[in-house]
Amino acid sequence: MRAVIIGNSATAVGAIEALRAVDQRAEVLVISEESHLIYSRPLLSHYLGGEISCSRLAYRASDFYTQHDVTPILETRATAIDVEGHQVLTADGTAIPYDKLLIATGGVPIVPPTPGIDTQGVFTFTRRADVEGILSHLEAHGGKRAVVVGGGMIGIKATDALLKRGMHVTMIELAPRILGAALDSTASRLMTNLLHDAGVDVLTGNTATEIQSRDGRVSGVTLRDGDPIECDVMIFGIGVRPNTALVQGTDIQVNRGIVVDEYMRTSAPDIYAAGDVAEAYDLVVDMNRTVAIWPNAYRQGAIAGAHMVGIETPDQGGVAMNAIEVHGVPAISVGNSNLEDVPDHEFLTDLDERAPRYKRLVLKDNRLVGAILVGRINRAGIYTGLIRQKIDVGASRAALMSEQFGLLSLPDRYRKHVVTGEGIEV
Ligand SMILES: Cc1cc2nc3c(=O)[nH]c(=O)nc-3n(C[C@H](O)[C@H](O)[C@H](O)COP(=O)(O)OP(=O)(O)OC[C@H]3O[C@@H](n4cnc5c(N)ncnc54)[C@H](O)[C@@H]3O)c2cc1C
Repeated sequence: MRAVIIGNSATAVGAIEALRAVDQRAEVLVISEESHLIYSRPLLSHYLGGEISCSRLAYRASDFYTQHDVTPILETRATAIDVEGHQVLTADGTAIPYDKLLIATGGVPIVPPTPGIDTQGVFTFTRRADVEGILSHLEAHGGKRAVVVGGGMIGIKATDALLKRGMHVTMIELAPRILGAALDSTASRLMTNLLHDAGVDVLTGNTATEIQSRDGRVSGVTLRDGDPIECDVMIFGIGVRPNTALVQGTDIQVNRGIVVDEYMRTSAPDIYAAGDVAEAYDLVVDMNRTVAIWPNAYRQGAIAGAHMVGIETPDQGGVAMNAIEVHGVPAISVGNSNLEDVPDHEFLTDLDERAPRYKRLVLKDNRLVGAILVGRINRAGIYTGLIRQKIDVGASRAALMSEQFGLLSLPDRYRKHVVTGEGIEV
């Protein structure tokens, strides 16, 4: 049996480890257009910020492929899937046959068409090569002013990293507020204030309509309202959309991401999809959707990898989760946390604007469906457990918001089900 994986990131690692846990004989090949061994994308901002060296990006030891008897085919782009013929075609004209195929191509950065986009000094921020490009640009040309387009998780991470490099950042966000997908308006305001305190100009409800250049390099952007902003580097950190290019033109069913069942099987025989490219089950909203986070990618990869070698472990679903830090203040959101003014939901909040510290719990039918923590995040693990396990917290609701809230606050019968932990680490 030959298993072929396209993409070499969190999903691939999950698949390889689950597959090898039960099967030593299958031949496993991983195709990746990137040249590096598996690295952690969540650490890219720490690399950009100068907090870690590139060697610390490694997600697994360098002998991972040998240890797991996997053939890496690096710097090779898969260009098409021949579904009928059970083979993957690559850019160099090779056809790679498979018995089972996992599409783990992740996401592609969203970049709105903007005149001047090809100017030197304009970057996206999803790959190690992007960070290396930004670092060499800054090293070669210097510069202290950056424009970051996007006020979501990726834009915030890029901004925080550039601040750590001592740069002045202007953040441009199209929506009326930053982090709208993860935070409610109060938490969003706290994070905006923190950015302001750190010297960031946060421009919401705006966008860059044109990129200006001088001597072939980016020198500024023009905003929709006509205002110019000078900069030496520009980063599009808007987020990603599922990288479904490979299945265009096939019969494989795609909505926003590739449609999969609870074993990560696509609509085509012997083809799986998992990670940022797939639309898998979100147990909080009770529907399939793309949730582009590392733990989901690893878990879904593991389900697909096991199923390829005959182990049927259905996916129990994932939970959306975002962890960021601005100016040393951490924030975490879990589940359906940004809901505001919706019927049938209850909102428990505790705000200390000056600290800043904020806790917001969202409940529906006595069950926790979302949580936001700003400043003090050490209960994130237990709230995540309650959300994931859909535990009835009716009897413990008085204690829910307490800083002492813990497993002991729950009725005995639930304690063994709940995940514990100090915050969420990726
Ligand atoms: C800057 C940044 C910070 C993040 N921080 C966090 C965080 O703190 N916590 C968190 O949970 N998540 C975070 N994420 C999200 C997380 O990294 C992703 O959810 C995760 O990497 C998805 O893994 P994946 O395996 O699905 O795909 P990806 O990691 O996107 O990898 C896909 C791989 O497939 C390759 N590929 C694509 N098409 C082809 C092709 N045709 N041929 C060959 N190779 C191909 C790509 O080059 C890439 O190497 C962050 C993401 C970014 C960009």
